[in-house]
Amino acid sequence: SVNKETLGFQAEVKQLLKLMIHSLYSNKEIFLRELISNASDAADKLRFAAIADGSLLANDPELQIHVSFDKDARTVTIADNGIGMSREDVIQHIGTIAKSGTREFFEKLSGDERKDANLIGQFGVGFYSAFIVADRVTLTTRRAGSTADAAVRWESAGDGEYTLENVSKPGRGTEIVLHLREGEDEFLNEWRLSNVIKTYSDHISLPILLHKPKRDDKGELLNEEEIETVNQASALWTRSKADISKEQYEEFYKHVAHDWEAPLAWSHAKVEGRQEYTELLYIPQRAPFDLYDRERRQGIKLYVRRVFIMDDAEKLLPQYLRFVKGVVDSNDLPLNVSREILQDSKDIDAIRAGCVKKILGLLDDLAGSEEDEGKEKFRTFWSQFGTVFKEGIGEDFANKERIAKLCRFASTLANTAEQSVSLDDYIARMKDGQDKIYYVTADSFAAAANSPHLEIFRKKGVEVLLLSDRVDEWLASSLTEYNGKKLQSVSKGSLDMDALADEAEKAEQKAAEDDLKPVLEKVQASLGERIKEVRVTHRLTDSPSCLVADDHAMSGHLERLLKSAGQ
Ligand code: ADP
Ligand code: MG
Repeated sequence: SVNKETLGFQAEVKQLLKLMIHSLYSNKEIFLRELISNASDAADKLRFAAIADGSLLANDPELQIHVSFDKDARTVTIADNGIGMSREDVIQHIGTIAKSGTREFFEKLSGDERKDANLIGQFGVGFYSAFIVADRVTLTTRRAGSTADAAVRWESAGDGEYTLENVSKPGRGTEIVLHLREGEDEFLNEWRLSNVIKTYSDHISLPILLHKPKRDDKGELLNEEEIETVNQASALWTRSKADISKEQYEEFYKHVAHDWEAPLAWSHAKVEGRQEYTELLYIPQRAPFDLYDRERRQGIKLYVRRVFIMDDAEKLLPQYLRFVKGVVDSNDLPLNVSREILQDSKDIDAIRAGCVKKILGLLDDLAGSEEDEGKEKFRTFWSQFGTVFKEGIGEDFANKERIAKLCRFASTLANTAEQSVSLDDYIARMKDGQDKIYYVTADSFAAAANSPHLEIFRKKGVEVLLLSDRVDEWLASSLTEYNGKKLQSVSKGSLDMDALADEAEKAEQKAAEDDLKPVLEKVQASLGERIKEVRVTHRLTDSPSCLVADDHAMSGHLERLLKSAGQ
């Protein structure tokens, strides 16, 4: 037709498609999960838009997802009556990857398909998974509120180009027709389809209707169709825990988080009190590639009495828990709640404090677990999210002690970069007479482990925490005390290790100090103003001298950090 135009995919989309088909082939039925997940999101968005404009739902108020197949045409069709897309929406959302950092991410790919396939998992799978089983996909969509002739048809063979044309569509929403590849006929079957839907999409809160050929009593095909609701069609988080299987929790996570790996752990609770709400919050298995990008989407969806209100409700959790994904469904907030209202709402503060408690409780359970599985999960959590979690010490004053208890560090005990020592472990190993928790900060593990300030501690067998993450300076300046023990940088102030020295050592030290007096005076005179003081030190065993900062001064490392930031 005249209005048909051909457009090219973004270069990254081609690459993504190729890798996805390659790495997901053994799990190809997930295309159905992804398309149903999008249909469900589209229904959520429509329900939300209809709060402000009820006419959007008019004529067709029952939100549903239809799945059907045609043996002769060899097609599977997924149709929804959700929000739909305009021509601009289609160009923007189908054919482009909107995530920030995409370009940088793709530059990192090695070209080795197997290695890259692992990385691609961080991206979520999404709409393109249709091309695992289809060699042509036709998507016809009409935005809610637009006229029938404002619909648009998108079609592609997944090979780098797509066409767009204006068409007419009687109802709102999106219909996706998959023209199956050679050899994919297994999906032209009602049992196979119904099984896949039950396995992956049972948690979807609107009905998924499977159209299937009607049979007579003897099982003979009639030339008629019947429609079966395949899923339970109730929001998963509203069901009681006992009625939800591990697999259902996991599939729901993949839907809300747009992730393809199962989560590491979750917390699900109905909270009653000043605020009534249900939370279902997950900790992922793996950090996303853009975890440090402050612009990235946050992971919490907010619902009010089962109605979806918004994605990325960043007010519901503090920044240091930004890796958490899931759903909060409030009973008390108004339906017209907006991001601006959330900004300074006391109700949201209460929900947020409750959610933080749940996540910290979940982490306490993993960390304190008697079982290997729990311990392993905590190790995974720490290796993926530890550096972000540590921000909590400076950010969340009310929970500081609890967060500190969960933190893990490298130390001179194992002398490896693995962060596995808790402050409680450290305190339990403190020497007689030791009353402080010692640490050193540096900008790499190697620099921390080789710091000359450690010599005396190694000699005396006193453990020192080795802090080398960027966030550690902030952590150390916010956490001055834990469980009644002061945290002390080994590179600051006088060490006051007298309690750890025996009588003979003390006498020796005194004699050395007297001997060195003339040397000190000389050094002081020649360095003059540039230093504050020259002292005899007992903290070194091999190096002749070192620089120390005042107790209250910035450490050398922080000073360098601030300089590099232009301060
Ligand atoms: P994601 O769901 O993670 O955003 P997808 O690749 O699955 O990524 O979908 C891309 C986008 O395309 C969606 O965010 C949405 O804007 C749009 N989209 C996909 N399917 C539908 C649909 N059935 N109805 C409306 N919009 C859709
Ligand atoms: Mg999706």
